[in-house]
Amino acid sequence: MLKKLIDKLYINNNLNEAELLFLLKNLDDDSRNYLIEKAYHTRLKSYGKTVFFRGLIEISNICSRNCFYCGIRAENKNVQRYRLSKEEILLSCEKGYQLGYKTFVLQGGEDAFFKDEVLVDIIKSIKIKYPENAITLSLGERSYESYKALYEAGADRYLLRHETANKALYHSLHPNMNFENRIQCLNNLKEIGYQIGAGFLIGLPNQTLNDFVQDLKFLKNLEPHMVGIGPFIPQKDTPLRYEKGGDAYTTITMLAIIRLLLPDVLLPATTALGTIDPESRNKAFKAGANVIMPNLSPFECRKKYALYDGKVFTNGEAAEEKKKIDENIRQAGFEPVMSRGDNIKWKRI
Ligand code: SF4
Repeated sequence: MLKKLIDKLYINNNLNEAELLFLLKNLDDDSRNYLIEKAYHTRLKSYGKTVFFRGLIEISNICSRNCFYCGIRAENKNVQRYRLSKEEILLSCEKGYQLGYKTFVLQGGEDAFFKDEVLVDIIKSIKIKYPENAITLSLGERSYESYKALYEAGADRYLLRHETANKALYHSLHPNMNFENRIQCLNNLKEIGYQIGAGFLIGLPNQTLNDFVQDLKFLKNLEPHMVGIGPFIPQKDTPLRYEKGGDAYTTITMLAIIRLLLPDVLLPATTALGTIDPESRNKAFKAGANVIMPNLSPFECRKKYALYDGKVFTNGEAAEEKKKIDENIRQAGFEPVMSRGDNIKWKRI
């Protein structure tokens, strides 16, 4: 019965809510292996054995928000705050360029310093120096006009996890934030023409299998070009410090289901997953993940961007370790590729 359901998912790239719930409730090791095998075949059909590299630049750990799970939330007084200057961002890009990176991901908290004109100037400067490179932004919620200005300046992609599709759970974890607004932001980004990335956390307090079903259906309906999912890892200075957090096993199962629901999606094996289980990256590739985002930020800032405890900065998470990362990917049977790695269905409008 379960294998038939997995076959249906493999062929149709879809299941209804009841079927997804049944699958999640009843997966055992045997059927999970079968699910992963099907996800692997799906990634082979869409992207072969390719693993794309993105150079991650964490431009600011200053944030006006207070998400309960996040180590750089505004109310955490134990964070040494930093903000990169335009020159420091360009230096990080140059370092990435020299290493062969063709995508720069500018990620940061919702830092009011980065007004549109500041970001437009930075994006244009990067594009003038590296016209072939893609720019991904991950800077939280902004207005439609702001997203449009950044797109017109040259940004290609925008990552904005929806975090959870359960509205009540979302509101319980995000004080003074609005679920509808977050979803509207994703829709705006898509309408403007970005390659968009959504995604959710795994292992949040009070999260149920039914919540995962809602997350999966949400992603299926949104059809993002990228999906970033990762385990929730408790951070010692946050209100959720005593919670248990998510596990690698469930995260990899979700990666496999997402690959089957969205065969063309760009799907990172995230640092958070590598943090809770160093072996998990290769398992994630086998389950359909096809992107990694090694860190290009200045060394002294990497520790300060601690969204969760234990975040790894070396052993395949540092952009400078490219050779070592290449080797690991090849050993796992995959092919490291330094091209822009756009979603195969996306074209700039
Ligand atoms: S999750 Fe993002 S928006 Fe929320 S506090 Fe952390 S950096 Fe800010």
